[in-house]
Amino acid sequence: MKKISIIGSTGSIGTQTLEVVRTNKDIEVAALAAGTNVSLLEEQVREFRPRIISIGDETLAEDLRQRLSDIPDYKYELFFGMDGLKAVATAEEADMVVTAIVGMIGVEPTIAAINAGKDIALANKETLVTAGSIVMNLAKEKGVSILPVDSEHSAIFQSLQGNSMNPVSRILLTASGGPFRGRKKEELIDVTVEQALNHPNWSMGPKITIDSATMVNKGLEVIEAKWLFDVDPSQIEVLIQPKSIIHSAVEYADGAIIAQLGTPDMKLPIQYALYYPERRFLPGERLDFTKIKDIEIEIPDRDTFKGLDFAYESLRRGGTMPAVMNAANEYAVAEFLAGKIRFLDIYALIEYAMTHAEIIDNPSVEDIVGVMPYVKDMLGSIR
Ligand code: NDP
Repeated sequence: MKKISIIGSTGSIGTQTLEVVRTNKDIEVAALAAGTNVSLLEEQVREFRPRIISIGDETLAEDLRQRLSDIPDYKYELFFGMDGLKAVATAEEADMVVTAIVGMIGVEPTIAAINAGKDIALANKETLVTAGSIVMNLAKEKGVSILPVDSEHSAIFQSLQGNSMNPVSRILLTASGGPFRGRKKEELIDVTVEQALNHPNWSMGPKITIDSATMVNKGLEVIEAKWLFDVDPSQIEVLIQPKSIIHSAVEYADGAIIAQLGTPDMKLPIQYALYYPERRFLPGERLDFTKIKDIEIEIPDRDTFKGLDFAYESLRRGGTMPAVMNAANEYAVAEFLAGKIRFLDIYALIEYAMTHAEIIDNPSVEDIVGVMPYVKDMLGSIR
């Protein structure tokens, strides 16, 4: 029986991963980590009985311990904070770690998991964005697989199957364009948090939903694709496909384009990563080709939605620049969600950080982890 650990089990990807586990009934959950949602983590623990559990802080851990005290004969180890994330990521019995946590806080536990020889089902794109070179080299050294969960990267990965001898000419990375597709800068000045959270196709956690509205998400995905598939950024073309039917595609030397299509359901890429290379039955709606009248494709408006240019620029500069871009975005999105800044300020803050930050070439893991507090201080001081 395959055994997995999940960091971020209470979020959108975490709960859908557990849904896949629940349906298939042949994966054991060795360890679970969450941040603040004690009630949901308690429910998950009661259902899956992991040996290792972690939650955000000591107070929450005490609360959880109390809640679990009525389960007879259940032995578990309970941790909190970063030590807890690492304990879950390295749980001895787990073969694979699902990184369903949000933000660059995922870097250290992911590296700990790779060092412990665990395969990674990677949803936490911020890890590859900020520490791509370190993570991919370490994975190679340790002989572990990094299996993409992000739907576009899973689609690319699926389109690469059977083609290991054939170099990729181009990656066609599709985007829905988010809730503000087609709007100009002036029309984005007063958009609300509620409007930005109203994604047309996908139901996801709040941070990635805002990232989709700014198209910073697509920028992060360009960087993620560069590291996962070892391509030059110039080979990655972003196209808007508003209905999210073509999940992404690969073009080969002979001009053949191989794509993965389907209804928007994250359980497909999650399940594919969990069982790769096997394809299992997945309940749910099927794509009806007779109902697809025309698949619209648009070129992204990079002038309005600056997320793509930030990503290409940070890849060009290298070093800690992608981490700076990512950290500034994490800070700005949290401020926007808290109602403290306006939508377009997200771009302004990222631009400020990328212009003013000192960049470290060939950074260590510590350098990368240090970027978050550094950028937070920098942006906090100008506001
Ligand atoms: P959510 O916000 O829904 O979930 C985040 C998870 O991380 C929650 O379980 C949360 O715990 C946990 N978490 C956050 N901070 C901490 C912390 N400091 N310590 C421990 N746990 C923490 O995010 P998503 O599921 O939407 O996204 C997760 C990752 O997957 C992101 O990197 C995102 O970009 C990527 N992704 C998501 C997709 C989606 O469809 N949702 C699609 C493709 C990629 P709690 O809630 O208990 O506080």
